Amino acid sequence: MFPVSSPPIPNGAILVQEGRIAVIGTLEDARTKAPEAEIQHYEGCAITPGAINTHAHLGFRRDDAPEGGTFAGWLGRLIERLPEKESWTPEAAKNSANEAIAAGTTFMAESSPYGECLPQLAESGMAGAVFAEFFPGDFPDTQPEERVEEILKQVHGMREGLPKRVSAQVSVHSVYTVDPDSSRVAALKTRELGDPLAIHLSESPEEVEFVREGTGGLANIFGSNTWGGAGVSPVRYAENVELLAPTTIAAHLATGVSDEDIDILTRTGVAAAHCPRSNDSLGCEVSPVPEMMRRDVRVGMGTDGLWSSPSMNLFEETLFAVKLHGFDGELGLRLATLEGARALNVERETGSLEVGKWADLAIVQVESGDQTALDVVESAASGGVAATVVSGNLIYNRE
Ligand SMILES: [Zn+2]
Repeated sequence: MFPVSSPPIPNGAILVQEGRIAVIGTLEDARTKAPEAEIQHYEGCAITPGAINTHAHLGFRRDDAPEGGTFAGWLGRLIERLPEKESWTPEAAKNSANEAIAAGTTFMAESSPYGECLPQLAESGMAGAVFAEFFPGDFPDTQPEERVEEILKQVHGMREGLPKRVSAQVSVHSVYTVDPDSSRVAALKTRELGDPLAIHLSESPEEVEFVREGTGGLANIFGSNTWGGAGVSPVRYAENVELLAPTTIAAHLATGVSDEDIDILTRTGVAAAHCPRSNDSLGCEVSPVPEMMRRDVRVGMGTDGLWSSPSMNLFEETLFAVKLHGFDGELGLRLATLEGARALNVERETGSLEVGKWADLAIVQVESGDQTALDVVESAASGGVAATVVSGNLIYNRE
């Protein structure tokens, strides 16, 4: 068993009571505390905290992604297909969620236009949040305050009747799709309410060019978005419009993140969602994650969606990052779990195996005898998850 926040326990057991972890230790420890408890034994398996996906999109279908290579080319083709996409989004979202839970995911931060994938996240059994992206172009002839008020109203309405650990929140999609005033108002309003905020930031070379010069592939796609050409980096721009705070989760931070930008990330306390496979497939360079972590930026892992990434398997995403940055298995397992929880400010509730936290677990079949953390990540990355448990409920069981 890999509690992550404490050393591994050979032949470990967990006692779950009312959805939370009551004992971590050996089977004898659990038996002493609750002699009557029903025992579920998984032969040859390791127990780890469930994977925390800090940035995902559920509503994309497997196997028919627009061509990658360049970000603006991909985004242009994605936008062209939005009308046909509407008809199959719910089915795609259900399939993506199933894929995630079969890979040990217990908590997901999902971003979708106006929170359209909330029903599928809620039905999946995972805990998490849907971040509703809004696009100012959909609110013609309104002031930023009015359109933010409207999206907040929608999001608050979506919260009614949700499962206990699922919430709806606001996303400012990106600095190139949302104007500076709407971004600022949304950031300040959500902070005032104590809510988190999700954004995409400093993802592509095209975003860097749009924010600095006001030109390039994104200027061509969003011709009416005229606030580019600010002469600064996307990170500096985002700070200027007050998007960056400890309650903000910024996805990607890949292309164009400079040393000065990392100072800004550290100073503002914003967290990063690292999506290296998406960055790789869309020509978005490598995020300076090791340096960000060295300077105390909280970093979690994110799969992004199936149109820019090969799977919804967060452990597979993490294994890619482990190889990319030369991390060891312990850090990999922590990035997939506790660091993700820290990035989303939910580490008091989940992300490691500790008494009092929710029982959010991945049960991973590991072939090798010595069961290192790297073995666990590798196995979970390649279909080795035997069961997934959220709040003590078995939401996936391979058998
Ligand atoms: Zn994304």
